[in-house]
Amino acid sequence: MAKVRTRFAPSPTGYLHIGGLRTALYGFLWSKKHGGDFILRIEDTDTARYVEGSVQIIYDTLRDSGIMYDEGPDVGGDFGPYVQSERKNIYTEYAKKLVELGGAYYCFCTPERINGLKDQDGNMKYDKHCLKLTKEEIEEKIKNGEPYVIRQNVPTEGRGSYHDLVYGDISVDYKDIEDGILIKSDGMPTYNFANVVDDHLMGITHVIRGTEYLSSTPKYNLMYDAYGWERPTYIHLPPIMKDAQHKLSKRNGDASYEDFVNKGYVKEAIVNYIALLGWSPKTNVEKMSLNELIENFSLEGINKSPSIFDETKMKWLSGEYIKDMTDEELVEKADKFFKQSKVYGKYDLKKIASLLKTRIEIYSEIPEKINFLEEFGEYELSLFYHKKMKTDAEIAKLVLPKARKAIAELKEFTFDSVHDTLMELVAKLGLKNGQVFWCVRVAISAKESTPGGVMELAELLGKEETLRRLDFSIQLLNK
Ligand code: GLU
Repeated sequence: MAKVRTRFAPSPTGYLHIGGLRTALYGFLWSKKHGGDFILRIEDTDTARYVEGSVQIIYDTLRDSGIMYDEGPDVGGDFGPYVQSERKNIYTEYAKKLVELGGAYYCFCTPERINGLKDQDGNMKYDKHCLKLTKEEIEEKIKNGEPYVIRQNVPTEGRGSYHDLVYGDISVDYKDIEDGILIKSDGMPTYNFANVVDDHLMGITHVIRGTEYLSSTPKYNLMYDAYGWERPTYIHLPPIMKDAQHKLSKRNGDASYEDFVNKGYVKEAIVNYIALLGWSPKTNVEKMSLNELIENFSLEGINKSPSIFDETKMKWLSGEYIKDMTDEELVEKADKFFKQSKVYGKYDLKKIASLLKTRIEIYSEIPEKINFLEEFGEYELSLFYHKKMKTDAEIAKLVLPKARKAIAELKEFTFDSVHDTLMELVAKLGLKNGQVFWCVRVAISAKESTPGGVMELAELLGKEETLRRLDFSIQLLNK
């Protein structure tokens, strides 16, 4: 088998949306699974849709997410240029060749004539009017500077068929395919032409892209056949939906990879989740590194039906990644979010990370979870109420002064010493563990829930601050 070569061919029309990244990821996984090459090609021939800066976003996103390409505009390769606007001469040459081969023809029809062919709904099927022009007539018109386009010459009868590795046998009647424009009047190719020429010249073996191209592929095959080129293998991917009715799309402003990174999702989790959008592994294991994805990826696992983007699931997966991080890793990866908190520079972040690890799913939850370490003041006494633990402000009134006294007497203020002191108090007061621990924890945090229990918090705050907070809470209870 020839070396597998896949490509990601985005149009630089804005940020890289989740669907685009999934296409890139599957192309990457498929090539790497076979020890092949993954190529990035920028499809920028539609100048009207070009958005400044979006090529850089494509480079940055692919690099940042680990979907690295072997060849591309900014890394080079033997099959360049990898930007379509730099390949104009190549398309002109191949278009002329296709005309000679009978697969395309020059069309000089004016916009007025074309408009006249449109039906009430604005649809039109070109009537092959210019196909009958003689070679001399064509040369004459070109010499006179008449504007023209080059159109594909699609047969009027018969069917175009091919086998898609996901969707199976696909067949389209040629009479339903329009003689589409291959080269526009400004000399630029359309996607319909450039994708064929480039995929062939770049040696692409597997074309992996969205289902929106499933039914136009027969017209691309006509060109491969006309040139006598081998058709690539096609793998079309199911759409990604926001809900049952709506496709996930950047035009609707749906979130991109970058947005999710900014929202505090673990990058590896985003990539991992995107892999599961339209593909399921044979095993039940869903958390997979990029290398494990390469290993497990298979075409049989690709679903034909659309998949629904489930942010809650992606959040869960992000949490699973955080759980498996070392404290150092969490501190490093979530640096930006620790910086946004009030505790940055004031506490041992590794210690905080060890408490947070099992309690957050995305990094952006961090500030809100730990700011209480630096922010403490008036709170509702109802926080002391806990039905199951049978505790409330009255119990707190009883517990806190005694806890304060015992803690103040501690020579060594550690997790264990605080624990033992509180346990002694439990015995002395004849209360349940939960009653004492809950009251003291609330009293020093002013929070219903905290990362870590009373001992961890006391240790972080230190003896002095713990006592100060206990005093404050005792006063509050006696107001
Ligand atoms: N430029 C096309 C797009 O962004 C690429 C389609 C393809 O992969 O062939 O949809």
